[in-house]
Amino acid sequence: MAHLLSETDVKVTRVADKLSETVHLMLNDPSTGLYRIQEHVKRSVPTLVEKKVELQNLQSNIQGASYDLDYSLKTVKSINWNPHYTIIQECLKSAIASKTNLQRQESAETSAASYQEPIPQEECLDGPEQDTIEGFICPVCMKVWPNQEELIAHWAETHDSSANDTDE
Ligand SMILES: [Zn+2]
Repeated sequence: MAHLLSETDVKVTRVADKLSETVHLMLNDPSTGLYRIQEHVKRSVPTLVEKKVELQNLQSNIQGASYDLDYSLKTVKSINWNPHYTIIQECLKSAIASKTNLQRQESAETSAASYQEPIPQEECLDGPEQDTIEGFICPVCMKVWPNQEELIAHWAETHDSSANDTDE
């Protein structure tokens, strides 16, 4: 039967074959592409949703922290009384200096007392015994003031170089 087919028939069959193959490819390619896309979406969407939820949580956390920071900033800005902090700082400085002096003295006395005599408590103190003073004490001149307004006023008048420093 095949040998009866003319050359034209063979050509027509070949063309028809090619045509059907082309049509098949044309229809198959998009569906394969869509299948791949669908596969990709199926794989990546859960991760994306997870990340989105994570991002939303992070955002709400950041928002909370930002509100907290705003409130803290407002509070810190509303505290606008530098003399207090300067005086506290001076008090701390003098306290640290006193402590250092005491330690130095103590170590000098323990190294000097190699006879292992117990050191009387009074000798550890610097010079004459100091009375306990409390209240609104100026850390520089150690004067006691009856209230904080007078202490602040005294600070601004007498030791205003540091007050100017804090103002600048
Ligand atoms: Zn003073």
